[in-house]
Parts: sequence; C-alpha cells; structure tokens
Amino acid sequence: MRLIIEARLVDEGSDTGHDDDAALAVIERPDGSLADLGLTLAEGRSLLAKVQAELVSKQVKRWFSGQTHCQCCGATLRHKDSRSTVMRTVYGKVTVHSPRLWSCACQRTARTPRCVVHPLSKALTNRATPELEYLQAKWASHLPCRQATALLKEVLPLDKGISFSGARDRIRAIGKQLDADIEDDIAKLPQPVADVQIRESSHVATVSVDSAWLRHCDSVRGLGRHVNLVAGRATFTDSPPKFYAYVHREVPSAAARLDQFLHRNDVATDERVTVISDDAGEFAKTVQGSQLARGRLLDWFHIAMKFNAAQRSVFGSKVIDSLERESIETEITHAKGLAWQGPQSVGAHQGIGHSTADEDGV
Ligand SMILES: [Zn+2]
Repeated sequence: MRLIIEARLVDEGSDTGHDDDAALAVIERPDGSLADLGLTLAEGRSLLAKVQAELVSKQVKRWFSGQTHCQCCGATLRHKDSRSTVMRTVYGKVTVHSPRLWSCACQRTARTPRCVVHPLSKALTNRATPELEYLQAKWASHLPCRQATALLKEVLPLDKGISFSGARDRIRAIGKQLDADIEDDIAKLPQPVADVQIRESSHVATVSVDSAWLRHCDSVRGLGRHVNLVAGRATFTDSPPKFYAYVHREVPSAAARLDQFLHRNDVATDERVTVISDDAGEFAKTVQGSQLARGRLLDWFHIAMKFNAAQRSVFGSKVIDSLERESIETEITHAKGLAWQGPQSVGAHQGIGHSTADEDGV
C-alpha cells in the first residue's frame, strides 16, 4: 500500500483547493504485513518539517501580498530584489523567499532619498519562534546542553535548526534575566515593620536548604575549579512545593535571596518561616540576616535520627501487640514522608534533604 499525504490550501468559506497543492510524503508499506506499523520517528520528523515549511511559506506569501503598497498613498511599491529569510521553528529551519521593495515616492524628501524596504525582515525581528526557545531553555535547564540538544534533535526535525552553543547561550541569557529580575524584586522588598506581633506563616509549612559542589567544565577559566550551589525548597500547606537556588558567593546577599523567595510566595512582613538545613555556616548566616526566616529547627540528619529512635522504641516495645505495631510503624513512615516531602508531594521522590538522609543510611 501507498499513503500519499498532500497539503491543500483552501480559502475561507470555500472548498476549492488552489493549483499549488503539494505532495508532502508518500509512505509505502508491504501489504499483508504489520512489521512496520505506523510512522517511524524519521518519517514523522520529515513529515512535520515538510508541513511546517509548506505552512510557513504559504503564510508569508499571503502576508506579503498585503505589504506591496504604500501605507500612506496606496501606490504600488517597486520590486528591488529578493533575499531569503531563515526562521527557526520547533519543526525545523525554514527558509522563505523575502522580497525587498523600493520606498514610495511620497515618502521622499530632499534629505531622505529613495530607500530600500524589507518588510519581512522588519516584521520578524526574532528569527526563532518562542516555542523553540522555550523548549531549548526548558530541556537545557534539566539536562546538560549537549544532551538537551541531542534529545530535541532526536524527537523533532531540528537537525540543522539548533546547536549546543545556541542552547548554552540561551540558558545563560535566561539565567542573567532571572538574576536581574530577582535583584529588581529585592530592591522593592518591603522594609520590616517594628513593634508588630510576629506569627508563624500559615501558608508556608517549612523551607529546607542544602548545598552541593559542582565541578566546572574544563573550558571555563578564571572561575575556580568548583562552584557551590545552594538550593532551597518550600513546602506549602495548600499548594505544590517551590524551589529557589543560587551560586554561593555569586549573589550580593544570600539572606535577601531567601527573603525575595519567601516574599514572592506570599509570606507577609509580620510572618516568619522555619528553615531546616544542615550545620553549614552559610545557612546560619543566611537565616540570621533574613527578615522572614526563623532560626533553624533541626538539620535533616537529626530529624532522621528522631524518626529512627521512634521506630526503635516501637520495635522493642513489649506492651504493643504485633498488629498495632505494624500500624504504628506505618504511621511513623508516613510522618517521615510528610516531613521530607511536604503535604502536597508525599511519595514523590524529590527534594532537598533526601540526599542527606540517604547518605546517612537512613
Ligand atoms: Zn506613498
């Protein structure tokens, strides 16, 4: 069998196609066999790339037909020459025909002679679609840039559309923008009010903070061999956990970062949040300098020890029968999960503090 996929352009309110209908793909499969069932990844990528190229070129052609007259006097603008414009989209890099025109005689003055107008270049200031930039940034924040680029190229027709260096530049630009936004927020943080009754935040359950060392890749010079990342996670009484992170010694104030994170998550100036962290000095200083955080309750290691002690006491008890013991042990396991994960994400294995507990063999 042979399946032919065609693109047919139809005007609004009409069923009649245009003459320039195009065959996009011909897929052949042997009759009487289910060995190659459905589209392969390669066929899917190729088909999407062709559909995208067809759609973009048709859209641009239609749009351009409305750009060929002077917007002031309506006169037809004379054609000068043609260039090609490259657009990068989630379904591949598309090259479109992009004519240049002479400006209208009515726009000329003694000081501004005839000039060239390039309508498409003016209209498409960003040559990558927001969706593509979003995908690159999203996956490059989850994976190393090379792997993120390889993943996107594997599932989408982006063979020549994206590069490792492009993803790296994009993620750096976004990081700088996020940093600038946070510093802007910090400058606008409300000042602490004296003589008010302080209360525990009703919205944020706890904030847990931990840090990790990462080694710089060899190509980065002048930044030292390692970088110390600090990451925090807030659990809420009524919504999923949220995270914040920064590079230690690369931010003007770690305490201001914590306050900005808490303020953004609706902690009021008269509320305080309990921070849980290990014994590292930087966390103590951060909490002391913060306007919205209370002193640390316990570090994760000691919290885990408390649960261990509770479990041991149940196990060794002679007054609890085996059925009751099982139910109490389940309660303790659930309570530990609640302390680790927060009420919204019990069972989801993620978060700060987990690694400490695992390393300690709890
Ligand atoms: Zn004109």
